[in-house]
Amino acid sequence: MKRLVLASSNPGKLRELGALLAPLQFELVSLAALGIPSPPETGTTFLANAVLKARHAAAHARLPALADDSGLEVDALGGRPGVWSARFAGEGASDADNLRRLLSELDGVPEGERQARYQCVIACVRAGDDPAPLIASGTWEGHIAHLPAGSGGFGYDPVFVPSGQALTAAQLPAADKNAVSHRAQALRALVAGLASEGYIAAP
Ligand code: IMP
Repeated sequence: MKRLVLASSNPGKLRELGALLAPLQFELVSLAALGIPSPPETGTTFLANAVLKARHAAAHARLPALADDSGLEVDALGGRPGVWSARFAGEGASDADNLRRLLSELDGVPEGERQARYQCVIACVRAGDDPAPLIASGTWEGHIAHLPAGSGGFGYDPVFVPSGQALTAAQLPAADKNAVSHRAQALRALVAGLASEGYIAAP
């Protein structure tokens, strides 16, 4: 069994990544369990931040590492909050603060103009100085509801209604979100990449 560091301190992400990676023969270790603090996310793209977080974790843990950088793009806000999704209402903001800020910025934006999507980029490195990180990405289309509903998921899920659904992502059972989400798509593509590079057996 190979040890793999999950380079995140976000409990929602860790839960989803853990569930998605469970069928593979990895022993997953979190940054927190190793006492490694998260690095500042100084990149301006999902890709830059995912690689930066994976390299930081691998260098400090001396283990292969996997990082997810993700966020919500809202068309009516010109693509914001994007890479700043976790800090939309300011440094150290909670999910509830960010969600309130989102709804207040969208106040008055009518149904039909509230399109949005989650983006996820996952980077996997064998070591901190790995010259060839494996990269995969996923996108989940939907729109922003006027009011929050549901208690599952995390982040903006209570107001994110996936395309073709009547329910918010927070109202979906975890397994349903994990079957189709941006994170699930990115992870599936990453696992295919790991298999084709010979790092793991084909799933
Ligand atoms: P980061 O990748 O740690 O910079 O933060 C990602 C942020 O994007 C989270 O804190 C959430 O606000 C948002 N986000 C990413 N993925 C999801 C998701 O699956 N559901 C809800 N919010 C998400």
